[in-house]
Amino acid sequence: MRDLTPAEQSIVDAAAKFGRDTIEPNAEAWDADRHVPRSYFHKAGELGLCKLIVPKTNDGLGCSVTAMARVNEILSQYCMATAFSLTVHNNVTNLVARNGTPEQVAAYLPGLMRGETIGGFLLTEPGAGSDATSISTQADKTASGWVVNGSKAWVSNGVNVDLLCTWVQTEAGTGAKGIACFLIDANTPGAIRGESYALLGSHALGTTGFDFENCAIADGALMVEPGQAFRTAMKGIDFARVCVASMCCGLLQRALSEAIDYTAARPAFGQHV
Ligand SMILES: Cc1cc2nc3c(=O)[nH]c(=O)nc-3n(C[C@H](O)[C@H](O)[C@H](O)COP(=O)(O)OP(=O)(O)OC[C@H]3O[C@@H](n4cnc5c(N)ncnc54)[C@H](O)[C@@H]3O)c2cc1C
Repeated sequence: MRDLTPAEQSIVDAAAKFGRDTIEPNAEAWDADRHVPRSYFHKAGELGLCKLIVPKTNDGLGCSVTAMARVNEILSQYCMATAFSLTVHNNVTNLVARNGTPEQVAAYLPGLMRGETIGGFLLTEPGAGSDATSISTQADKTASGWVVNGSKAWVSNGVNVDLLCTWVQTEAGTGAKGIACFLIDANTPGAIRGESYALLGSHALGTTGFDFENCAIADGALMVEPGQAFRTAMKGIDFARVCVASMCCGLLQRALSEAIDYTAARPAFGQHV
């Protein structure tokens, strides 16, 4: 693993302070609310935590994967769901920076990096999880743009999301080849936000479903063309895999440290355990 640069170490230190001061005192309440407040993203944005891997040429921090993993590891010591929420947002921000048209970058990237526009990654569907080439949410070309119909599942940040990075099929039966990616404003008529899921835990992630019913979008909403988008989606999934692994490390470190402290102080049979 390569060393962090001084700038990367500063952002890891900022994440640790953010975890201590902002996440730790609020994590339980946010879990009960089933989402983090928008102010969570604003504060993260002020610290640079919403533009971690955006290239420096786009005004991002251009952090390495190692630095990103360290940030996730540290945030998860305070709450894995809130760390996950930020990871999904960073994933979308990065995808927009690297794949967006100049118009999309100008319209969305500054707000995403400030944590004012909240991003969601909509690939999974009720009937398509690990077999993501079989997604059936369909975008049909019209004279003035596209019309989207279908259902998405497991949308992290779904409760708050503003910008839907949405992976859809454009030609039924063509699998990966027909998949395209659109950036859809969550307030577009026909984009219908579901209720937050009841899970075993991690409710602060604000996970929901999303339905599209004759959701009409402009040509300019297309971010990645059919033929290229599936590979781009898999890059996003690869990014998430590294982040989830580092979050699990942080969660386990905290659980172990809590268990050691507890057992050291716990008396039983007239002695400490
Ligand atoms: C907390 C949480 C947040 C999430 N957030 C997002 C998000 O923001 N955006 C998004 O798009 N998705 C999200 N997901 C969805 C996640 O990406 C999917 O859960 C994942 O792709 C796996 O899909 P699945 O759950 O349908 O599992 P399945 O596809 O049903 O797979 C279950 C298991 O069966 C195995 N399997 C599958 N097919 C076969 C086979 N033919 N033979 C043998 N084994 C098989 C798989 O490898 C896996 O181990 C989230 C999920 C969770 C739990």
